[in-house]
Amino acid sequence: MTARLGRRRFGRDNYVYLLAEGEDAALVDPGDAAVGAALAASMGARPRWILHTHGHPDHSGGSAALRAELGAEVLGHGADAAWFPPDVDLAGRGTIDLGALHLRLHPAPGHTPGSLLFEWRGRLLTGDTLFWAGCGNCRHGGDPAALAATFLGGIAGLDGALEVHPGHDYAEANLPFALEVDPTAAAAERLVAARAARAAGREPEASTLAAERALNPFLRVGDAARFAALRARRDAWAPGGEGGR
Ligand SMILES: [Zn+2]
Repeated sequence: MTARLGRRRFGRDNYVYLLAEGEDAALVDPGDAAVGAALAASMGARPRWILHTHGHPDHSGGSAALRAELGAEVLGHGADAAWFPPDVDLAGRGTIDLGALHLRLHPAPGHTPGSLLFEWRGRLLTGDTLFWAGCGNCRHGGDPAALAATFLGGIAGLDGALEVHPGHDYAEANLPFALEVDPTAAAAERLVAARAARAAGREPEASTLAAERALNPFLRVGDAARFAALRARRDAWAPGGEGGR
Protein backbone atom coordinates (compact mmCIF):
# COMPACT_ATOMS: atom_id res chain seq x y z
CA MET A 1 0.00 0.00 0.00
CA THR A 2 1.44 3.35 -0.98
CA ALA A 3 1.82 5.87 1.78
CA ARG A 4 1.42 9.48 0.71
CA LEU A 5 2.03 12.71 2.63
CA GLY A 6 0.43 15.91 1.39
CA ARG A 7 1.08 19.44 2.60
CA ARG A 8 -0.58 22.74 1.80
CA ARG A 9 0.16 26.27 2.98
CA PHE A 10 -2.50 28.65 4.24
CA GLY A 11 -2.40 32.10 5.76
CA ARG A 12 1.14 33.33 5.56
CA ASP A 13 3.07 30.40 6.92
CA ASN A 14 0.69 27.72 8.32
CA TYR A 15 0.78 24.15 7.01
CA VAL A 16 -1.99 21.55 6.96
CA TYR A 17 -0.96 17.95 6.23
CA LEU A 18 -2.69 14.84 4.96
CA LEU A 19 -1.54 11.29 5.68
CA ALA A 20 -2.94 8.66 3.32
CA GLU A 21 -2.51 4.92 3.01
CA GLY A 22 -4.83 3.05 0.68
CA GLU A 23 -8.36 4.27 1.40
CA ASP A 24 -7.47 5.56 4.84
CA ALA A 25 -6.57 9.21 5.38
CA ALA A 26 -6.12 11.69 8.22
CA LEU A 27 -5.81 15.47 8.14
CA VAL A 28 -3.35 17.05 10.53
CA ASP A 29 -3.96 20.59 11.86
CA PRO A 30 -6.58 21.89 9.43
CA GLY A 31 -6.68 25.46 10.70
CA ASP A 32 -8.62 26.37 7.56
CA ALA A 33 -11.47 24.04 6.54
CA ALA A 34 -11.49 24.99 2.85
CA VAL A 35 -7.75 24.45 2.52
CA GLY A 36 -7.94 21.11 4.33
CA ALA A 37 -10.79 19.98 2.05
CA ALA A 38 -8.89 21.13 -1.04
CA LEU A 39 -5.78 19.23 0.03
CA ALA A 40 -7.81 16.05 0.55
CA ALA A 41 -9.57 16.47 -2.81
CA SER A 42 -6.24 17.00 -4.60
CA MET A 43 -5.08 13.64 -3.24
CA GLY A 44 -8.38 11.84 -3.91
CA ALA A 45 -8.78 11.18 -0.20
CA ARG A 46 -11.77 11.29 2.13
CA PRO A 47 -10.27 11.71 5.62
CA ARG A 48 -12.00 9.91 8.45
CA TRP A 49 -9.73 11.36 11.10
CA ILE A 50 -8.47 14.81 12.07
CA LEU A 51 -5.36 14.98 14.23
CA HIS A 52 -4.25 17.99 16.27
CA THR A 53 -0.61 18.47 17.20
CA HIS A 54 -2.03 20.99 19.69
CA GLY A 55 -5.20 22.98 20.23
CA HIS A 56 -4.36 26.49 19.00
CA PRO A 57 -6.98 27.92 16.63
CA ASP A 58 -4.64 28.30 13.65
CA HIS A 59 -4.29 24.47 13.80
CA SER A 60 -7.84 23.50 14.79
CA GLY A 61 -9.97 26.31 13.33
CA GLY A 62 -11.26 24.22 10.42
CA SER A 63 -11.80 21.03 12.37
CA ALA A 64 -15.43 21.50 13.46
CA ALA A 65 -16.60 22.23 9.90
CA LEU A 66 -14.55 19.36 8.44
CA ARG A 67 -15.77 16.95 11.11
CA ALA A 68 -19.36 17.77 10.13
CA GLU A 69 -18.65 17.62 6.40
CA LEU A 70 -16.67 14.38 6.46
CA GLY A 71 -18.15 12.62 9.47
CA ALA A 72 -14.61 12.54 10.82
CA GLU A 73 -13.34 11.99 14.34
CA VAL A 74 -11.06 14.59 15.98
CA LEU A 75 -8.10 13.28 17.97
CA GLY A 76 -5.94 15.45 20.20
CA HIS A 77 -4.53 15.75 23.69
CA GLY A 78 -7.08 16.51 26.39
CA ALA A 79 -4.74 18.99 28.06
CA ASP A 80 -5.46 21.36 25.14
CA ALA A 81 -9.25 20.92 25.38
CA ALA A 82 -9.73 24.57 26.34
CA TRP A 83 -8.97 25.42 22.70
CA PHE A 84 -10.63 22.39 21.09
CA PRO A 85 -12.14 19.45 23.01
CA PRO A 86 -11.15 16.32 21.05
CA ASP A 87 -13.51 13.42 20.39
CA VAL A 88 -10.66 11.09 21.33
CA ASP A 89 -8.17 12.10 24.02
CA LEU A 90 -4.64 11.00 23.07
CA ALA A 91 -3.18 11.62 26.54
CA GLY A 92 -0.98 8.71 27.54
CA ARG A 93 -1.16 6.96 24.15
CA GLY A 94 2.11 5.72 22.68
CA THR A 95 0.69 4.55 19.36
CA ILE A 96 -2.57 4.77 17.46
CA ASP A 97 -3.96 2.82 14.50
CA LEU A 98 -6.35 4.64 12.19
CA GLY A 99 -7.26 2.00 9.64
CA ALA A 100 -4.00 1.31 7.81
CA LEU A 101 -2.30 4.36 9.32
CA HIS A 102 -0.03 3.45 12.22
CA LEU A 103 1.35 6.40 14.19
CA ARG A 104 3.70 6.75 17.12
CA LEU A 105 2.91 9.60 19.51
CA HIS A 106 5.53 11.58 21.40
CA PRO A 107 4.31 13.87 24.20
CA ALA A 108 5.90 17.30 23.76
CA PRO A 109 4.54 19.75 26.37
CA GLY A 110 5.90 23.28 26.30
CA HIS A 111 4.36 25.27 23.45
CA THR A 112 1.05 24.12 24.95
CA PRO A 113 0.43 21.58 27.75
CA GLY A 114 -1.02 19.05 25.29
CA SER A 115 1.42 19.35 22.38
CA LEU A 116 2.23 16.10 20.58
CA LEU A 117 4.63 14.98 17.85
CA PHE A 118 3.24 12.45 15.38
CA GLU A 119 5.69 9.94 13.89
CA TRP A 120 4.49 8.20 10.73
CA ARG A 121 6.58 6.26 8.24
CA GLY A 122 9.84 8.12 8.78
CA ARG A 123 8.19 11.53 9.10
CA LEU A 124 7.83 13.59 12.24
CA LEU A 125 4.96 16.09 12.32
CA THR A 126 6.13 18.59 14.88
CA GLY A 127 3.32 21.17 15.10
CA ASP A 128 4.57 24.30 16.83
CA THR A 129 7.12 22.48 19.01
CA LEU A 130 10.05 22.12 16.59
CA PHE A 131 10.35 24.39 13.56
CA TRP A 132 12.93 24.47 10.82
CA ALA A 133 15.82 26.28 12.55
CA GLY A 134 13.77 27.15 15.62
CA CYS A 135 11.20 26.18 18.23
CA GLY A 136 7.75 27.27 19.30
CA ASN A 137 7.16 30.19 21.63
CA CYS A 138 5.41 29.91 24.97
CA ARG A 139 3.28 33.04 24.80
CA HIS A 140 -0.13 31.34 24.47
CA GLY A 141 -0.45 28.92 27.36
CA GLY A 142 3.08 27.52 27.13
CA ASP A 143 5.85 26.83 29.62
CA PRO A 144 9.56 27.32 28.77
CA ALA A 145 10.75 24.80 31.38
CA ALA A 146 8.47 22.12 29.94
CA LEU A 147 9.60 22.99 26.42
CA ALA A 148 13.24 22.66 27.49
CA ALA A 149 12.50 19.21 28.95
CA THR A 150 10.80 18.19 25.69
CA PHE A 151 13.84 19.21 23.64
CA LEU A 152 16.51 17.89 26.00
CA GLY A 153 14.66 14.76 27.05
CA GLY A 154 12.28 13.69 24.30
CA ILE A 155 13.40 15.05 20.94
CA ALA A 156 17.08 14.46 21.71
CA GLY A 157 16.45 10.72 21.69
CA LEU A 158 14.67 10.52 18.32
CA ASP A 159 16.19 9.10 15.13
CA GLY A 160 18.12 11.70 13.11
CA ALA A 161 16.79 10.24 9.85
CA LEU A 162 13.23 11.39 10.64
CA GLU A 163 11.94 14.08 8.30
CA VAL A 164 10.79 17.24 10.09
CA HIS A 165 7.35 18.55 9.01
CA PRO A 166 6.42 21.59 11.13
CA GLY A 167 3.17 23.50 11.57
CA HIS A 168 4.61 26.74 10.19
CA ASP A 169 7.37 27.74 7.81
CA TYR A 170 9.44 30.13 9.89
CA ALA A 171 12.80 29.20 8.36
CA GLU A 172 13.54 32.61 6.92
CA ALA A 173 12.68 34.31 10.23
CA ASN A 174 14.55 31.79 12.36
CA LEU A 175 17.80 31.39 10.43
CA PRO A 176 19.12 34.96 10.96
CA PHE A 177 18.63 34.40 14.70
CA ALA A 178 20.45 31.07 14.50
CA LEU A 179 23.31 32.79 12.65
CA GLU A 180 23.50 35.42 15.38
CA VAL A 181 23.53 33.12 18.41
CA ASP A 182 25.18 29.98 17.00
CA PRO A 183 26.65 30.63 13.55
CA THR A 184 27.15 27.51 11.44
CA ALA A 185 27.85 26.93 7.76
CA ALA A 186 24.74 24.73 7.68
CA ALA A 187 22.52 27.63 8.81
CA ALA A 188 24.05 29.97 6.24
CA GLU A 189 23.44 27.44 3.45
CA ARG A 190 19.87 26.78 4.57
CA LEU A 191 19.06 30.49 4.56
CA VAL A 192 20.29 30.79 0.97
CA ALA A 193 18.16 27.78 0.02
CA ALA A 194 15.05 29.12 1.81
CA ARG A 195 15.33 32.50 0.11
CA ALA A 196 15.90 30.88 -3.29
CA ALA A 197 12.84 28.65 -2.84
CA ARG A 198 10.63 31.60 -2.00
CA ALA A 199 11.99 33.69 -4.87
CA ALA A 200 11.17 30.81 -7.23
CA GLY A 201 7.70 30.29 -5.73
CA ARG A 202 8.64 26.79 -4.54
CA GLU A 203 7.75 25.28 -1.17
CA PRO A 204 10.83 24.41 0.93
CA GLU A 205 11.85 20.77 1.20
CA ALA A 206 11.36 19.14 4.59
CA SER A 207 14.57 18.86 6.59
CA THR A 208 15.61 15.97 8.84
CA LEU A 209 16.28 15.86 12.55
CA ALA A 210 19.97 15.29 11.80
CA ALA A 211 20.03 18.39 9.58
CA GLU A 212 18.25 20.38 12.31
CA ARG A 213 20.79 19.21 14.89
CA ALA A 214 23.50 20.77 12.71
CA LEU A 215 21.97 24.25 12.71
CA ASN A 216 18.98 24.67 15.06
CA PRO A 217 20.25 26.44 18.20
CA PHE A 218 17.44 24.99 20.33
CA LEU A 219 18.66 21.47 19.56
CA ARG A 220 22.26 22.43 20.27
CA VAL A 221 22.04 23.87 23.81
CA GLY A 222 23.11 21.41 26.45
CA ASP A 223 20.95 22.28 29.44
CA ALA A 224 17.59 23.65 30.50
CA ALA A 225 18.84 26.99 31.82
CA ARG A 226 20.56 27.80 28.54
CA PHE A 227 17.52 26.65 26.59
CA ALA A 228 15.23 28.97 28.58
CA ALA A 229 17.64 31.86 28.14
CA LEU A 230 17.76 31.23 24.39
CA ARG A 231 13.95 31.10 24.18
CA ALA A 232 13.70 34.41 26.07
CA ARG A 233 16.32 35.95 23.76
CA ARG A 234 14.34 34.79 20.71
CA ASP A 235 11.16 36.33 22.15
CA ALA A 236 12.88 39.67 22.57
CA TRP A 237 14.69 39.46 19.20
CA ALA A 238 11.76 38.67 16.88
CA PRO A 239 12.17 41.29 14.17
CA GLY A 240 9.53 39.51 12.14
CA GLY A 241 7.98 36.13 11.55
CA GLU A 242 7.36 33.55 14.23
CA GLY A 243 4.44 35.71 15.28
CA GLY A 244 1.89 32.92 15.06
CA ARG A 245 0.54 30.85 17.81
ZN1 LIG B 1 0.56 26.92 18.35
